[in-house]
Amino acid sequence: MNDSRDFLTLNVGFIVHQTVGYTRDFPIEAPSVYLPPDMNLSDLKGFVRVTRTAQGLLVQVNMKASTSSECVRCLVDFQQPLEADFTELYAFTLNQTTETGLLMPESGKIDLAPMLREEMILAIPISPLCKPDCKGLCPVCGENLNETTCNHEDDDIDPRLSALRSLEKE
Ligand SMILES: [Zn+2]
Ligand SMILES: [Zn+2]
Repeated sequence: MNDSRDFLTLNVGFIVHQTVGYTRDFPIEAPSVYLPPDMNLSDLKGFVRVTRTAQGLLVQVNMKASTSSECVRCLVDFQQPLEADFTELYAFTLNQTTETGLLMPESGKIDLAPMLREEMILAIPISPLCKPDCKGLCPVCGENLNETTCNHEDDDIDPRLSALRSLEKE
C-alpha cells in the first residue's frame, strides 16, 4: 500500500507574489490516502482553490472520499461517503491571522492533511448506516435481514407481547 500523501502538501509560495485576487485551482485525486494517526480514506477526489488576498492566502477545500465503517444496525463493514468543505486563511503576518491562527509558512508549502483529517472525522455520522433503510439483524436468530428473510420477521420480539397476542386469539 502506498502511504504517500505528498499530494496534500501544496507548493503555493509563488501565489504570495501574485496580485490580490489571483486564484489557482489544484485538483486532488487519489485512490487511497492515510491521514495519521487514525484515518484511511478511499476515492479521495476534489479540488483546492488558493486565492491571494491582502491578508494572506485563502485556501478553499472541497473534497469527497469514503472510509470504512461499521453499520450500527446490521454490523456489516461498508464504505461511508464523506465530504469536507472548508476555508482557511494562511495569514502573512501574526496580526492578520484568523481564529485558527494559521500563518503562511516560509517554505511556501501548506500541508492539508491535518485539516482534512479533522474535517473528515467531523463528517462521520454518529450512527453510521450502510443504507438509510437498512433492515438490521433479526433479534432472534441474528440473520442479516438485508440479505435474507427468516421466519421471525412477523413474530413479536417481546415475549410478553406475544403472550398477550396468544391470549387475544383465544
Ligand atoms: Zn446495515
Ligand atoms: Zn430470525
